[in-house]
Amino acid sequence: MTLKAQPKASHFIDGEYVEDTDGTVIESIYPATGEVIARLHAATPAIVDKAIASAKQAQPEWAAMSPTARGRILRRAAEIMRERNRELSELETLDTGKPIQETIVADPTSGADSFEFFGGAAAAGLNGSYIPLGGDFAYTKRVPLGVCVGIGAWNYPQQIACWKGAPALVAGNAMIFKPSENTPLGALKIAEILIEAGLPKGLYNVIQGDRETGPLLINHPDVAKVSLTGSVPTGRKVAATAAGSLKHVTMELGGKSPLIVFDDADLDSAIGGAMLGNFYSTGQVCSNGTRVFVNKKIKTEFLKRLKMRTEAMLIGDPMDETTQIGPMVSWAQREKVLSYIEKGKAEGARLVTGGGIPNNIAGEGYYIQPTVFADVTDDMTIAREEIFGPVMCVLDFDNEVEVVARANATEFGLSGGVFTADLTRAHRVVDQLEAGTLWINTYNLCPVEIPFGGSKQSGFGRENSLAALEHYSELKTVYVGMGPVQAPY
Ligand code: NAD
Repeated sequence: MTLKAQPKASHFIDGEYVEDTDGTVIESIYPATGEVIARLHAATPAIVDKAIASAKQAQPEWAAMSPTARGRILRRAAEIMRERNRELSELETLDTGKPIQETIVADPTSGADSFEFFGGAAAAGLNGSYIPLGGDFAYTKRVPLGVCVGIGAWNYPQQIACWKGAPALVAGNAMIFKPSENTPLGALKIAEILIEAGLPKGLYNVIQGDRETGPLLINHPDVAKVSLTGSVPTGRKVAATAAGSLKHVTMELGGKSPLIVFDDADLDSAIGGAMLGNFYSTGQVCSNGTRVFVNKKIKTEFLKRLKMRTEAMLIGDPMDETTQIGPMVSWAQREKVLSYIEKGKAEGARLVTGGGIPNNIAGEGYYIQPTVFADVTDDMTIAREEIFGPVMCVLDFDNEVEVVARANATEFGLSGGVFTADLTRAHRVVDQLEAGTLWINTYNLCPVEIPFGGSKQSGFGRENSLAALEHYSELKTVYVGMGPVQAPY
């Protein structure tokens, strides 16, 4: 039987598809139907070695090219991605179950933005500096790290493959990317497109695998860096493994971000922001504002309008362009989210809407209703742990000092947001919020021009913007003596 989205082979190494059927089988399942759409194999140690050897071989010549020449190839890849946006978006929908309405505007396009931005930024972003020393002088060079490993999560597979690949490549590195075992398909297409755009073979290899495969890559002596997008527990393990051989590390991890709505906020905008920050991608977004603190004075009106708008959302077939909410990525993830909903009810939160599986959808898809809890208190499990599903927790507050302290009372520090008409207050509050990315009167916008990343347990390092180049290169300092050496002996 032919499978709907079967790639030519599991891995893409040295410019071509490669298979090793000794690897454990990975089934790619379309979350909207539960149907197996591709069957792949996790990388064996032989595949890992092959991917790293080809990257190591290709990298020095690539690093010797001018940044502009490297950037030109990335910009061509961006053009190809835009030309094939529909095809790539459909594949992303098959991989993740996210509605095509979203993938068509937010997934390959965001990957293409990254290739375009770093393709253009290459020439300026990699400059060193000249340091006058009174006769003598020094200069710095930004040099690539070598072979970098990218490990992805399943919520934005193509975007993550590009967000890691673009800065790594333009800085002169090679990359081996391992997508999540839940979404193995998209990254293979990115690797194909890069070759078509003129990238020399071996510089962007994709291998499949799971938590067993990651350590094979990270422990390899020829790997210089690992960039992970994943959960905090995985981050701790990956960082510990990388520390064994002192590798460079970027950690893009989870969150439980606060979104604060003051009583002077534009209510419809604040509700729109809270919905986008909880329900987009069926709630599977790391930076989501899942703790929505609403001033007590506007709570009733906020919840009334929120309930109405949430219940009007269209749940269904992700390939239908009118669908706004697709299924969750996997059966296991839906089970996890449903168990959090049960905990919320058991611990006394008030269910405003949702809370279960929609009963008007046929088939075996992993659907779940967008859910809102009110009267959530800081100590409840649903207010403390990352759920990673469409579950919004609304908490009440009285004043600014109190809400800032409560917003910061978490081990996470990925992002946060404030809705208020008082701009002085907005800046004062974001100044105090402990997070890597903050929004005022909007939420979850992450264009490639701005740095993105977390603080506290949500990680370190930054993706996007010129800041990302610093995490895929290191400084080499050269001191130049201009006179005779003054030796005292
Ligand atoms: P996960 O941590 O389960 O897996 C992430 C990746 O790590 C997968 O590719 C997995 O195979 C791999 N992995 C797991 N254990 C490993 C190990 N011991 N060594 C090496 N690799 C290992 O995360 P997920 O369920 O795929 O994604 C959801 C999580 O990702 C959420 O916590 C979410 O907040 C986070 N996330 C963060 C960002 C960000 O940019 N900050 C973006 C998207 C998702």
